[in-house]
Amino acid sequence: MDYDAIVVGAGPAGLMAARAIAKKGFSVLILEKDRDLGTKACAEAVSLAAFETAGISPTPSIISNNINGAIVYPPDESKGIRMVGGSNKGFILNKPLFLCALASEAVAAGSDLQMRAEAKEIIMEGSWPKAVTYEQRGEVKRAGFKVLVGADGVGSLVARSCAFNMEGNELIPTMQYVMVNCNIPEKDMIRTYMGNDIAPLGYAWVFAKNEYMANVGIGVRGVPAKQYLDKFIQNHPDMFKNAKIVREGGGGVPIGGQIPEIVKGNVVLCGDSSGQVIPITGGGIRTSMAAGKCAGEAIAEALEAKDLSLLSNYPERYNEYWGARIIRSLKVLKALEKLSDDDLNLLAGLITGDDVVDLANGLDIRRVASKLLKHPVVAMKIASKLL
Ligand SMILES: Cc1cc2nc3c(=O)[nH]c(=O)nc-3n(C[C@H](O)[C@H](O)[C@H](O)COP(=O)(O)OP(=O)(O)OC[C@H]3O[C@@H](n4cnc5c(N)ncnc54)[C@H](O)[C@@H]3O)c2cc1C
Repeated sequence: MDYDAIVVGAGPAGLMAARAIAKKGFSVLILEKDRDLGTKACAEAVSLAAFETAGISPTPSIISNNINGAIVYPPDESKGIRMVGGSNKGFILNKPLFLCALASEAVAAGSDLQMRAEAKEIIMEGSWPKAVTYEQRGEVKRAGFKVLVGADGVGSLVARSCAFNMEGNELIPTMQYVMVNCNIPEKDMIRTYMGNDIAPLGYAWVFAKNEYMANVGIGVRGVPAKQYLDKFIQNHPDMFKNAKIVREGGGGVPIGGQIPEIVKGNVVLCGDSSGQVIPITGGGIRTSMAAGKCAGEAIAEALEAKDLSLLSNYPERYNEYWGARIIRSLKVLKALEKLSDDDLNLLAGLITGDDVVDLANGLDIRRVASKLLKHPVVAMKIASKLL
C-alpha cells in the first residue's frame, strides 16, 4: 500500500509529525517497532510550556507529579541553586500515557498507527527513497511513500539508510532506575547534581514521581554510568537507604547538537534521530515535539503544493528558535566541561536560578556572560567562551 507520508517511530517527534500531516487530509502510516508506547527510559520531566507545544491539556491521567521548580547542586552540595515558580513549573509525565494521548490525536486526525512494526529497509528507485519494508509479527510488508519521516530516535535507521551527515552527533550514555520507597524531600522540586566525582561531564538527577517513587539517573562521559549511579545512590542514604529498584533502563542522549542537515530530498528527520535535544539538560521531549509539528506542517504544505522543495520550510522555521537554542546550550556545555569541581563550586556561588535557566536552556547566555565577566577567575574560564 502507498501513503503520502510514512513516519518511522511513535515517540514524541513521530506522533506530532503524523498528526500535523494527517490533519491536512494526507494519508500517513506510523511504524512503531515496540509493543507498547513509551517503553524507553526517560526521566519524564517537561515544562508547562511543553503542553502548549503538544496542543493537549496536562490532565491528571497523563501526569505523575506536578513540579514547582528545580534545584541544581554543585559538587560540594553545600548550597543548591533554586529555580522556583513561573516558567520553572512543569511536570513529571506518565510518559507511556502521555504518548497514548499524542497517539490518540494522531489517529483521530487519520493516521494509521501500526505497533510491533519494525522498519527494516528503505527501498530506493535510483537514489530516490520510495518505499519501506517492515516486519510485523514475523511477516515482512512493504509500503510506499512520497515523504519519509525518520523519527526513530538515536541510531536512526532512516538517517543511516538515507546517508544523512551525522557530524557532531555525540551521545552521552545514561542509566536510570525507577525506585520505590524513596524519601525525597520537596517532591515538587526536581534535583540535579553536578561534579567530576559525582557525574563526570554530565549530571545525576532525582525526579520524584509521587510520594514514594522517583526516577533516579545519571548521564556521564568516559566512565561507567551504572557504577557512578550506584555510588550516587549509596552516597545519599537520606533519600535511598530503604529504597529498591523496580525498573532499570538507559540509552544514549544526543548532546552534540543538531546534525548539519535535517531534510534530504523527500526524507525528513526529527527528534533524537537528528540531535534535536538541549545539550546541557539532555531534554528532548519538547524539542522533539516542536520538530515533529514543524516538520509535519512543512510536509503537508509540500504535499499540497506538489513541491517537495517546500520541505525546506521545516529547517528554516525550526532553526529560527529551537535550532538557535540548541546551538547556544551546546556552547555552554563546551564551556562547562572544562571546569574543575572547585570552579563549579565557585560558579554556583555567583549565579542565580535565573542565570542557570538561561544557561542550561540556551536562552539569554550573553546576559549571564556579561555578569560573569566581572569576576576575574570565572571571566577567563567561562564567561569569555559564552560571548
Ligand atoms: C534516561 C533518559 C532520560 C531522559 N529524560 C528526559 C527528560 O526528563 N525530559 C526530556 O525532555 N527529555 C528526556 N530525555 C530525552 C527524551 O527521552 C528524548 O529526547 C525524546 O524521547 C526524543 O523523542 P523522539 O520521538 O525523537 O525519539 P524516541 O522517544 O526515542 O522515539 C523513537 C521511537 O522510534 C521507534 N523506532 C526506532 N527504530 C524503529 C524502527 N526501525 N522501526 C519502527 N520504530 C522504530 C522506537 O521504538 C521509539 O518508540 C531522556 C532520555 C533518556 C535516555
